[in-house]
Amino acid sequence: MTHLPYLHCLELPTPFPLGAVNAYLIEGDPLTLVDTGPRADSTRAALEAGLAAHGYRIEEVGRLIVTHHHVDHIGLAAEIVARSGTPLYTHAYNFAWLADYAAERDRQQPFYHRIWQDGGVPSEIVSAMKAANDRLPQWTANVIATAPLAEGDKVTLGSDVWQVYHTPGHAGGLICLWEPRSRTLLANDHFIRDISSNPVLEPSPLMNGPRPRRLVEYLHHMQRMAALDPVVALPGHGEPVTDVAGLVKNRLTFHKRRAQRLLDSLDGQALTLWELTQPLFPRLQRGMDFFLALSEVLGHLDVLEANGQACPRRDADHVRWVRRASAVGHANGHDDARA
Ligand SMILES: [Zn+2]
Repeated sequence: MTHLPYLHCLELPTPFPLGAVNAYLIEGDPLTLVDTGPRADSTRAALEAGLAAHGYRIEEVGRLIVTHHHVDHIGLAAEIVARSGTPLYTHAYNFAWLADYAAERDRQQPFYHRIWQDGGVPSEIVSAMKAANDRLPQWTANVIATAPLAEGDKVTLGSDVWQVYHTPGHAGGLICLWEPRSRTLLANDHFIRDISSNPVLEPSPLMNGPRPRRLVEYLHHMQRMAALDPVVALPGHGEPVTDVAGLVKNRLTFHKRRAQRLLDSLDGQALTLWELTQPLFPRLQRGMDFFLALSEVLGHLDVLEANGQACPRRDADHVRWVRRASAVGHANGHDDARA
């Protein structure tokens, strides 16, 4: 049980280095599950045991909500829907991922390919990232969402009315759920206590708009959720966050330092995304770790660009980042959201 008697955290093992994922069981009518864990035998068994500990079976789930499209949050959704007949709700951004994860990934490949090519990422690293990416669809199965959840929607969970917030950053379709009476935030991967949430690089949903600046968005929505002054944020991984303001302060400091370090390395030279990433993360081995590192560095470059401190310049082969002549002093982060 959490501090709300109807709300239970189900800690589910995953086959991923990140470890367990938290799903949330909400008693009441309908019986609600928030997030599912990946489609893995050990995860399914833990989910069944977790439900059974509260006297329920998967077949009794009457409403399923998934908070964003990552496989550790949606993987078992198709199976839960098939076994229980539950409606499935999520932000509309996630619909295509749920309907056909592999097809959506394939559709986005040219976007990533262009970024890696522009960024001077070596072909063996690109291959390693693609191999990691190719392994993801096995952890989920296709399912059609019933209806969208959007910013401002209200959902009765247990005995309270919860509000939906759309907080892109870690993922474009990420939603948080907020209960103002107990000041509880169901935060999934928006707030994680012991690791900083990666601003995962994504194209615009229709692939025809500007690339979303995920870290810029994340810093904004992190402060927007902190401004609600939650008593507790219940995360998608690890322990509850009881000092949200402190966590946000630490994250802002971390991102500001990282952005400043990149800005310093642009002193007198123009560098590609790869040339900026490698010195920061010299010992990576796994394809997925390269992807997350490149994603984060591009996020920091976006912050520097948004602050007018650096900008990308295209030459014949690559995009190189340069420090802007007017850039003096320190990276400002993006801490104006409270103003
Ligand atoms: Zn995630």
